[in-house]
Amino acid sequence: MADVTNEIVLEALKGVIDPQRGSDVVSLDMVTGLIIKGGNVGFALDISRDDGSPVDGEAAEPLRKSCEDAVKALPGVMSASVVLTAERTGGAGGNGAAQPSGPPPEMPGMGREDAPMPGPEAIPGIKTIVAVASGKGGVGKSTVAVNLALALKGLGLKVGLLDADVYGPSIPKMLGTSEKPGSDGEKVSPVISHGMPLMSMGFLVDENRPMIWRGPMVAGALTQMFRDIAWGELDVLVVDMPPGTGDAQLTLAQKVPVTGAVIVSTPQDIALIDARKGLEMFRKVDVPVFGIVENMATFICPNCGEASDIFGHGGARKVAAELSTDFLGEIPLHMSIRETSDSGNPVVESAPDSAEAAAFIAIAEQVAAKLKDKLAS
Ligand code: ADP
Repeated sequence: MADVTNEIVLEALKGVIDPQRGSDVVSLDMVTGLIIKGGNVGFALDISRDDGSPVDGEAAEPLRKSCEDAVKALPGVMSASVVLTAERTGGAGGNGAAQPSGPPPEMPGMGREDAPMPGPEAIPGIKTIVAVASGKGGVGKSTVAVNLALALKGLGLKVGLLDADVYGPSIPKMLGTSEKPGSDGEKVSPVISHGMPLMSMGFLVDENRPMIWRGPMVAGALTQMFRDIAWGELDVLVVDMPPGTGDAQLTLAQKVPVTGAVIVSTPQDIALIDARKGLEMFRKVDVPVFGIVENMATFICPNCGEASDIFGHGGARKVAAELSTDFLGEIPLHMSIRETSDSGNPVVESAPDSAEAAAFIAIAEQVAAKLKDKLAS
C-alpha cells in the first residue's frame, strides 16, 4: 500500500479552494497539526482570520468536508478526520507536521466564546456514556477506565471504550492490542479488543513525534471521534478523559452527552484538591457526577499480603461526603494491578476472583445501578 506522507496530503489539499477567499486551504495557511498514522490522517482546519473577524463554523462545514473527501480519495488513506478550529492569534500557525512537544500546554481560554457551541446531541446506538476523569495525570484514571469497562462487560452490558487521553493514550497497551482501526470509507471501524470496540487517540498520534494539542483542537478532534466511529449498538461507552480540568475537558464535557462522570483520585491531599476541581467542572456544565473512586488507597504487600495505608486513606470518602457526591469505592495499590495492565491483560479479566478485581467489580455495579433507568429506556 502507498505510504501516505505530509507532502502527499498537502498536495491534495492544494486542490481544495475556500470559495470565500478564492484560494486554496494550504496557501491560506489553514491546515495545522497534520498527523498521519498508518492510513489514518487527521488535521485541524483553522477558519479564523488574522484580522480577528468572527468565525462561522456552520458556513465552513462544506469546506471541512471537501478537505476530508480530498484526503480520503488518496491511495492508502483509510480515514480522514478534519476538525474546524479558530486558533489564529495574529499570523502564527503554519502547515505541517506535528511539532515536538514538552509537557502539555495550559489550555488557552479560547474557542468557547467565538465558536458555535451546539448542545450535546445523543449519539445513535449509544445508550449511555460514562466519563472517567481526574484532576491530574498519573492517578490511575486509565487503569480504572479499562477495568471498569471490562467489569461492566462482565455484568452483561455491551461496552465500548474510547481512549480520549490525547496526552498519554495508554489503553491500547493496557489491552495488549497493536491493531489499527479500519474504515468502510464513511466511518472508522474501531479495533475489537477483549470483546469490546476500542478507539484510541493513540491510533492516530505518533508516539515518537508527540504533538502539541491546543484546547479547542482536542475537544474538536474528540467530539468528531465520537461521531465518526462505527460503534454499533452499545449500552455504555466508557471514555478515558484527558487528565485535568482545562478548557479541552470542559468543552468535551459540554459537547458530548455524558450520562455521568467518575472521578479518580489518589489519597494524597493534593490529588484530592484536583478531584474537587474535576467535580466542580462537571457540575458547571450540568454533567452528573456519579462519584469519586479512591485509587492506590491501601498498599497490599505482594509478599505477606499485609495492608498498610502509606498515603493515609479515606480522604476521598470524606471529600465525597463534603461535596455531596457518592464514594464509589477504593482500589488497593497492588503490584498485580500494574503488572496485569503492563502485560495487556487487566486484572478484572486475568484474575477475576482476586480482591483487586472485586474492588473494580463493586464500583462497576454501582455505576451500572446509576445507568439502569437509561438502559431500560
Ligand atoms: P493515569 O491514566 O491517571 O495517568 P494510569 O492508569 O496510566 O494513570 O496509571 C499510572 C501507573 O500506575 C500505571 O503504571 C498503572 O499500572 C499504575 N497503577 C494504577 N493504579 C494502580 C493500582 N491500584 N495499583 C498498582 N499500580 C497502579
